[in-house]
Amino acid sequence: SAFEYAPAPESRSVVDIAPSYGLFIDGEFGEAADGKVFKTVSPSSEEVLSEVARASAADVDRAVKAARGAFEKWAALPGSERAKYLFRIARLIQERSRELAVLETLDNGKPIKETRDVDLPLVAAHFFYYAGWADKLDHAGYGPDPRPLGVAGQVIPWNFPLLMLAWKIAPALAAGNTVVLKPAETTPLSALFFADICRQAGLPKGVVNILTGYGDAGEALVSHPDVDKVAFTGSTAVGKAIARQVAGTDKKVTLELGGKGANIVFDDAPIDQAVEGIVTGIFFNQGQVCCAGSRLLVQESVHDEVLDALKRRLSTLRLGDPLDKNTDIGAINSAEQLARITALVETGESEGAQRWSAPCDLPSSGFWFPPTLFTDVTQAHTVARDEIFGPVLSVLTFRTPDEAVAKANNSQYGLSAGIWTEKGSRILAVAGKLRAGVVWANTFNKLDPTSPFGGYKESGYGREGGRHGLEAYLDV
Ligand code: NAD
Repeated sequence: SAFEYAPAPESRSVVDIAPSYGLFIDGEFGEAADGKVFKTVSPSSEEVLSEVARASAADVDRAVKAARGAFEKWAALPGSERAKYLFRIARLIQERSRELAVLETLDNGKPIKETRDVDLPLVAAHFFYYAGWADKLDHAGYGPDPRPLGVAGQVIPWNFPLLMLAWKIAPALAAGNTVVLKPAETTPLSALFFADICRQAGLPKGVVNILTGYGDAGEALVSHPDVDKVAFTGSTAVGKAIARQVAGTDKKVTLELGGKGANIVFDDAPIDQAVEGIVTGIFFNQGQVCCAGSRLLVQESVHDEVLDALKRRLSTLRLGDPLDKNTDIGAINSAEQLARITALVETGESEGAQRWSAPCDLPSSGFWFPPTLFTDVTQAHTVARDEIFGPVLSVLTFRTPDEAVAKANNSQYGLSAGIWTEKGSRILAVAGKLRAGVVWANTFNKLDPTSPFGGYKESGYGREGGRHGLEAYLDV
């Protein structure tokens, strides 16, 4: 590969496209200043996929300087010129999407069916969408001269490595900012592959810089004095720490944090369709989705019918090799995440909720958790309140629409919700009362680059996607 800087002789790689990689700073791949590296493993086999450079504060400083050095020229380009680069990147993502899907599945553990059919098309769509904005900023009603913010420091999680990168980088570049992005430590590979795509697209040096590393590098990035805009997606705990850190500076901040989405099924809903939506809502990407529908609120009169259908459906899901295109449920991203899920499920059991897990054989190596339901759940139970970020659904019941709304809103989070009903008037009435950034009707986990996404309450602030996502990178 063009972006391999030096093969580490002792490192093993299971695929040719994942050898050892460097940091991507000022258009070049290179070692970390202190020469440190870390290993990234396949969650489905625990094999070492690759060794990557581990950034420290010195690398952050170099990357921010590169981004600053590139900023004036990039911002001064006519929007139509920036658009050309973004369109080129979008097309290269499409051309290389098979490699990217395999790499993402290897590094993250999610089924290839998802990376191939959902993640990658959305990543390309995001770049196409914001490419379309770049030459229209002067005519979008912002006034004659909307200004980019400067250098954006962006930190992303491991659940949608490439999609979260696209959500961050595409609007930033369209608006004329330059970026330094740090992917999560367990999924660094697709971001480095993306860096190679930037080179292939001829993107000017320093406009995009990728620093692989841990939380210390993320902390150094968001607190760097020459970073103008901080964009973070990850846990609520780290989001709060970042908010404290940047308080009192002139940095602009957007935070996309955790969730505990309510998926509300009314008794007039088409049950088969709702069951599919419940499954997509919580078992897509093994439930490691910030907007997952992790709380099922089902109207009492259809509870048994929905639960029976749901258990039947879950018993048919295929768990196993994420590279097998028939696989529905892949691996959990890391041993730490598996331990977190296991501990929360044990808490659920000890607090008296009834656990049911789909019958399936778990592979002997790798990190796995079976699709799991909790019934007899009350709002006081930990599994009804805390984000589990795994394939675990907590089922609660309600009698009236008002009770459904009250229970749905009884959460520290407010990222997503879903409504299943045949009645359009009920959709509008209930959606208007839900304190959630996105409300789906008769579908779930549908994302689109034209639509703003983000949270209420402890799910964060700011929006990504759509025109609002662009404005998060502009001074208007
Ligand atoms: P995390 O907060 O542990 O890590 C996220 C990123 O932050 C990683 O790159 C990590 O290295 C970095 N980081 C860690 N400590 C840091 C610090 N002090 N300063 C700066 N950066 C630091 O989260 P995670 O476990 O990787 O991701 C799971 C969480 O992300 C879940 O809570 C999920 O809901 C949330 N998430 C939210 C959205 C959204 O759009 N709202 C999307 C995906 C995931």
